[in-house]
Amino acid sequence: MKLRAASLINDSIVDGPGLRYAVYVQGCSHHCDGCHNPQTHAFDGGFETDTEDIWREIEGNPLLDGVTFSGGDPLFQPLPLAELARKARENGMSVWCYTGFVFEALLEKNDREIMELLRFVDVLVDGRFEKSLRTLELPFRGSKNQRLIDVKRYFSDGVVAEYSLS
Ligand code: SF4
Repeated sequence: MKLRAASLINDSIVDGPGLRYAVYVQGCSHHCDGCHNPQTHAFDGGFETDTEDIWREIEGNPLLDGVTFSGGDPLFQPLPLAELARKARENGMSVWCYTGFVFEALLEKNDREIMELLRFVDVLVDGRFEKSLRTLELPFRGSKNQRLIDVKRYFSDGVVAEYSLS
């Protein structure tokens, strides 16, 4: 399945716990003030790639603990990422996903394609980057409003809770 990407990183240690394959997708309309990746905003920027090629790279790295989708906002391309997330899960890897959307708003919207992706996500780092709330103290987040949502737990028992890193 085709995917528009900004960059692909085979050995990230900053996009979630452990060693991760990071898919930085291309395209985001949130335009957060102070965004660190403005080059990922244009929906026609980056390059086109294929989930088959990405999966071959993931499979080829036995040291990976998981896969992370960042960007850009991954939720603008949910279906190719759902395919990758499903395969990652089936192969024992954790799946993290960043988004500028807030989890509760996504639940309310109940978009079929986004929910298809979220079903295979373990942790969603949610919310826009808020410059006034910028912090270096919270692992894997840029501003204090952003949360690590335990999406796996939501789909198992219906509770919206933050994921514990400990
Ligand atoms: S959601 Fe992320 S990529 Fe999009 S503008 Fe905000 S910080 Fe940048």
